[in-house]
Amino acid sequence: MWISAWNALLDLLAPPRCPGCDTTLDFGEHGFCGACAPLLERLPGPSAYAFGGPLADAIRRFKYARRTDLADDLGALFAEAARAHRGRVDVVVPVASHPRRVRARGFEPVVLLARAVADGLDVPLDRARLRRLRDTPPQASLPEAERDANVRGAFEASRDDTRRRVLLVDDVRTTGATTKAASAALYRSGAVEVRVLTLAGVQA
Ligand SMILES: [Zn+2]
Repeated sequence: MWISAWNALLDLLAPPRCPGCDTTLDFGEHGFCGACAPLLERLPGPSAYAFGGPLADAIRRFKYARRTDLADDLGALFAEAARAHRGRVDVVVPVASHPRRVRARGFEPVVLLARAVADGLDVPLDRARLRRLRDTPPQASLPEAERDANVRGAFEASRDDTRRRVLLVDDVRTTGATTKAASAALYRSGAVEVRVLTLAGVQA
């Protein structure tokens, strides 16, 4: 009860905004507004939603304008989509960013989202399992034919013989080359099953 009273007070002081269009929400409202929510397009997987419209705007604000406050809304959306994996995975592993990129950005967007997914599934988050060995150019900046080669061998995973069923998560999936390379590293390190879920996917 105290928590909800405190949250209500916070909402009065700083009314929440829609992560999609950035308009102020009505009192008591959270997440995407009534205009944006119907535009979120659910996909069958491995991406939860189509990358477009208000979700793309929200992800851009979150990642590039450093609106880390959007991690709650985007994380909740992601965690909801991940529910189908409940009881079927032992650990959530985010696709690793190169340390140089993390330093430049000041935070690691995918880790904030992965934490919400892990909490929702009631399994640990292991952000150290996967390491990015090379700071590769962003996949979206490359022609499709070069994307596999760009990330091949870019990841290394540490062995974990107790949590062998992995849910690998990323924010945006383009061709799937990145999650393929990361999955391969996890399998090499002893994973028995790697499931992939990204918050948003670019459709061909
Ligand atoms: Zn909106």
